[in-house]
Order: sequence, then structure tokens, then C-alpha cells
Amino acid sequence: MELEILQYPDARLKQKSAPVTEITPEIRALAENMAKAMYESDGIGLAAPQVGRFVRLITVDLSGPSQREALKVYLNPVLEALPDPESGKPEGVESEEGCLSVPDYRSNVKRHSRVLLKALDLDGNPVEREAADLEAICLQHECDHLDGKLFIDRISRLKRGLYDGKVKKRLKAAE
Ligand SMILES: [Zn+2]
Repeated sequence: MELEILQYPDARLKQKSAPVTEITPEIRALAENMAKAMYESDGIGLAAPQVGRFVRLITVDLSGPSQREALKVYLNPVLEALPDPESGKPEGVESEEGCLSVPDYRSNVKRHSRVLLKALDLDGNPVEREAADLEAICLQHECDHLDGKLFIDRISRLKRGLYDGKVKKRLKAAE
């Protein structure tokens, strides 16, 4: 099964996903095929709604498509901002993000620098994990997808307007 990655402005990307209630063979196959699609598109993270499946499942591999050695599948992930170990306060971090559903565009986005992830793995075991830096950013980006949110929903109105203008032009040219 080859999965198609939905692209903005597809309205389905705004849909909220439902919790996984049972780890069926279909859910396992979805995770496997999502990992494949993620690697093939040179991504480090993918969320089920990006392939038109509205369940709370994400795949992440920070080692990237060239190494493919740190694949994680998280079901029903929940994030909590963690304080910075030095200052004792939650810290923000701003970095450039891109998205397989938002082609040819990157922009700076503000995120929490550390998060606590609670989720289930594909065997139904609870996972609890502290994440920082790129991993924390990636998890926040993927979990946003489960709530129908894209990183371009977190950029300035001006930047978003410019991007939407570009998309409109491209769609018109393709007509
Ligand atoms: Zn994305």
C-alpha cells in the first residue's frame, strides 16, 4: 500500500484525529507504510492525518532517511512542556521548520525547547520520554498535525499571507 501525502491547502489537514483505541493489524500496517512514506520523502516525522488517516499516530526518525536506525512509532501522544534544567523555567526555542504537507516552504516557528512525551508504542506499552531540541520540536510539530494544525498556522499573519499568495498562484498556474 503506497500512501499519498496530503498537501496544503487540502482541507483534510485541518481535521482533528481520533485516539487509537485498539492496535489492529491495520494500525500496524499504517505505521509501517507511514515510515516508508516518511523515508521516501526525506522526512524525519510524519503524522497519520498527513496520509488521510485520522488517528493519533505519528512516526519519527531523527536519524533520517539515510540511516533509518531510530524509528519510533507513538500512539496517542501527549506532550507537556518541561522546564529548562538550568533556569528552572520553560524555555522557548525558535527554529526553521518545514513539512511534507507544505511543499517548498520553510519558516521559523517558536516551540518549547523541552517536552515530556507520554504515548503508547505499537505493542500497547506506555512510553514516557523527555525530549529536547530537534526531537522536542519534531514531536510538537507532529502532534500539532493530530489537532489539525500546521506549522504555517504558527507564523506571522504577514508571512502566512505571502505564502498563501504563492500557493494560489501555483494552483492557478496548474489549472
Ligand atoms: Zn508536518
